[in-house]
Amino acid sequence: MGCRGGYFHGSIKGVVWMIRRGTDYIKSIKENPPVVYYEGEVVKDVTEHSAFKIPISTVAKYYDLHWDEKYKEYLRVYNLDVGEETSISFLRPKNKKDLGKLRDGLVKIYDYYRGFFGRSPDYLNLWTMVFYAHAEDYFGKQFGSKFMENAIEIYKEATKRDLFYTHAIVAPMYDRSRPPSQWEDPYIQVGIVEEKPEGVVVRGAAMICTAGPYAEMLWYLPNVRRDSDPRYAIYFSIPTNTKGVKFLSRRGFQPREGGEFEYPISSRFEESDAVLVLDNVLIPWERIIFFKKPELIEDLMWHTVQLRGWFNWHFVIQHYSRLKFLAGLAIAIAEASGTSNFINVQEKIGEILIYVALNEAALYASVERAQELPNITRPDPYISISASHFNMKTVPRANEILRSISAGSSIPIPAGIKDFENPEERKLLDKYMAMKGLDALERVKMFNLLWDVIGSEAGMRYEQYDRFSRGDPTIRWAQTYTEVFKDRKHEFVKLVKDIIDQMPNPKA
Ligand SMILES: Cc1cc2nc3c(=O)[nH]c(=O)nc-3n(C[C@H](O)[C@H](O)[C@H](O)COP(=O)(O)OP(=O)(O)OC[C@H]3O[C@@H](n4cnc5c(N)ncnc54)[C@H](O)[C@@H]3O)c2cc1C
Repeated sequence: MGCRGGYFHGSIKGVVWMIRRGTDYIKSIKENPPVVYYEGEVVKDVTEHSAFKIPISTVAKYYDLHWDEKYKEYLRVYNLDVGEETSISFLRPKNKKDLGKLRDGLVKIYDYYRGFFGRSPDYLNLWTMVFYAHAEDYFGKQFGSKFMENAIEIYKEATKRDLFYTHAIVAPMYDRSRPPSQWEDPYIQVGIVEEKPEGVVVRGAAMICTAGPYAEMLWYLPNVRRDSDPRYAIYFSIPTNTKGVKFLSRRGFQPREGGEFEYPISSRFEESDAVLVLDNVLIPWERIIFFKKPELIEDLMWHTVQLRGWFNWHFVIQHYSRLKFLAGLAIAIAEASGTSNFINVQEKIGEILIYVALNEAALYASVERAQELPNITRPDPYISISASHFNMKTVPRANEILRSISAGSSIPIPAGIKDFENPEERKLLDKYMAMKGLDALERVKMFNLLWDVIGSEAGMRYEQYDRFSRGDPTIRWAQTYTEVFKDRKHEFVKLVKDIIDQMPNPKA
């Protein structure tokens, strides 16, 4: 793979970090602020804003994990592609051993997150690495050498600066019955307005961009399967502070100040979501990797690049960690309250544990049966995609089981930590809030955790994410048949046909 001298074209100021610390990231986002609208105002400093402080500190923690003695050996790797030590999340696996290391590093990160916080920097690092790996055999072959170089340089820049990328794909939900090119304004979805010598001007919006308000970089990559109008067929990477980029943020689901006792998940793993607006943004040519050939999306998604296999593999890791956490919560509650003796409760806990085991199996099998290509070794796509689609139902189902096991007792939990500070109330709480296996304080902590998974705004947002973040579950499950197993389904039909062929026919 060739390399074109310098590696940085964006407008993010700062130094080369290789492996950053949390403070480096916070400094960078302070110095390179994106335009974020919140309650009618442009946020002056996202790092100080109550709606963004929590995810920003979690992203900072992600970077710090790379310096933590307990995590270092899993999260750092000598990266031959840049000739330095980098985060494991940038590793281009060259064999099954590398892929296993990447899996184990990502599992460490998501075990720390308990399977929440899906828009951690590692997620898009994986995409950038995959584009780099296919710079030659896909981007170069299909779009020419300039685009190949762009994919290479964007990877090197992201890796050497340890940048935090997020992404946006889906067009706003204006009218799903017609493709965006037939909408009253065809530039509701981001489209090419003008081509200039220095780049391409684009205008439009994306429905949702998680982490946009506090990410440094953005991949915009629309699903051009929904509309093959070439004006939409453009993939690019830009700094989030590029002129004309705006984020319309949703309301923050952060708890009130000091709410770590009442909302242990929201206060750690709340992520923000925003509408992304690109208001006549000039995208320099060197930031574009896919251009005006919508028909080439199939090869990117399903064949040469197999992007679908890769990002679904990452989701299996996220949800494997989450299911372990949900299993732990279900077991702890059932055992403390004595309901674990009931066969129906045991059956339900068993169900979550089966999901855990199947995900673990999928993660090992996807590496064991990895596809070893000359430029990259990638997880088995049948396994990764199927397991990820399966989890669109298993994770919400695990939440449903938690609701069923905890039943009405999940609701009347004292309002806050102060209830335990009033001596008279404390006496009552100690007596009436305890469970056989937990004292009152432990029990309330456990049930605050439970509520933050199954009932709070952040919990509900995660459930929506678990169902929809890889697309609509109905469409995805159908695609398992129409796309994922397209080449293999006849194998299964043959098993039936062979018997039918051996069955006797009536005499003529
Ligand atoms: C919390 C959260 C965070 C997310 N973060 C991001 C992000 O950071 N970046 C990003 O790009 N995306 C993100 N996603 C968006 C995700 O990619 C989309 O939600 C997903 O692609 C589904 O699109 P949609 O929500 O527009 O639903 P649609 O696909 O429009 O579906 C809506 C409904 O219409 C039905 N429907 C739609 N089209 C058809 C059809 N052709 N045939 C039959 N039925 C149809 C569906 O079955 C469904 O019931 C996020 C989603 C969530 C919930």
